[in-house]
Amino acid sequence: MLARKREAEPLAAGGVSDLEERLRELQAAGLHRRLRTVEGPQGPRIVLDGRPVLLLCSDDYLGLAADGRVRDGAARAALRWGAGAGASRLVSGTMALHGELERRLAAFKGTEAALLFGSGYLANLGVVGALAGRDGVVLSDELNHASIVDGCRLSRAEVVVFRHRDVEHLGWELARRRGRQALVVTDSVFSMDGDVAPLAELVEVARRHGARLAVDDAHGTGCVGPGGRGAVHAAGVQDEVDVVVGTLGKALGAYGAFAACSGVVARYLMNTARSLIFSTALPPPVAGAALAALELLVEEPERVVRLQANARVLRDALAHEGFAAPDSATQIVPLVAGHPERASRMCELALEEGVFAQAIHPPIVPRGTSRLRLSVMATHDAGELREAARVLGRAARRAGVPLPAAEPPAAGSASVAGEPPGAGSPPAAPPPPAARAA
Ligand code: PMP
Repeated sequence: MLARKREAEPLAAGGVSDLEERLRELQAAGLHRRLRTVEGPQGPRIVLDGRPVLLLCSDDYLGLAADGRVRDGAARAALRWGAGAGASRLVSGTMALHGELERRLAAFKGTEAALLFGSGYLANLGVVGALAGRDGVVLSDELNHASIVDGCRLSRAEVVVFRHRDVEHLGWELARRRGRQALVVTDSVFSMDGDVAPLAELVEVARRHGARLAVDDAHGTGCVGPGGRGAVHAAGVQDEVDVVVGTLGKALGAYGAFAACSGVVARYLMNTARSLIFSTALPPPVAGAALAALELLVEEPERVVRLQANARVLRDALAHEGFAAPDSATQIVPLVAGHPERASRMCELALEEGVFAQAIHPPIVPRGTSRLRLSVMATHDAGELREAARVLGRAARRAGVPLPAAEPPAAGSASVAGEPPGAGSPPAAPPPPAARAA
């Protein structure tokens, strides 16, 4: 984060703008980012900035983005329906193709309806904004995705952030707001940690307090649960969650998102979700690609099994290298390095040996927890995942990242290197008396 807020000043003395100064601050803090260019489609191996590498940070979990049938679905939709939808859903942008994709998504998720959005970011903005209600309260896990955080902010509802996966804390905050319209919102599989929300308990607490529950299943859809139906199905609570957001740009290899819900909720969202009302409908080639990908997922559920098996292979191989084993089994594996410079160094060292796992820094993750966020694909093979773990182990050792399982840290110290423990992490104390804003 930037050190302090500044007044906008177009150009300071010497022609250096405040923006350049802020960029230098980011650089000094090790938080400056740049774009890397992929030359070709997504896949387990890509060419990155001219260099062949093993790709270990794509959300194309099932390898569908470059699949021939999915490309064909996009191409056929482009020829039949054109390149763009031309208008928002509520004006003239809803095509029969959108309706067909919505019906298939609803059938896949086992809900009465599904409503397409332009992206997962837009879906969360729209769903949270519409269901929170201006006079209501929205309760959000502290590690929820930024799109949920922004949805909370835009909703103008009271926002309460509960400690990560802490159902007791959530219940305590709900009890203090008895009688208010409340929405509980959580990621299912958390995007930067790969751990899973306690969905059955969240359902129970939400019901007990008369609150609605929305679950962002962006990283569960296509990856966990029976046939990749998602984390909500895996927890067996598919009939008890008010809205499940799924994305089409990750395991389904395309772009866009959907809210799976009852017919009434879908109609309500269609009439009130601003990110749907005020944004152009999904382009036909994207909808065509998503339809083909969904068909493949249903026909070939073994892709999901392969993804889960690969996640186990990578986790075991990393544990063998001495990395701490996070307590979950999903396809997302965080290697927390701590200080941003250390995470970036580890990333560059791994790249030199042909493994690409992007370093992730604040504000995407809490301060002091910069990391390599690894994601497995169904199309990796076990041998290359084991070799990648060896490369990452060497990179961690050379970058000075402690490997907790190889060398237990001193009592009381976090797994975070070079930073005071606890920056951005939940306090261990009982629920605080005052709610924080997201
Ligand atoms: N929710 C979660 C948990 C995510 O990780 C992401 C994207 N990284 C989104 C929503 C946003 O999805 P999209 O990329 O389709 O905007």
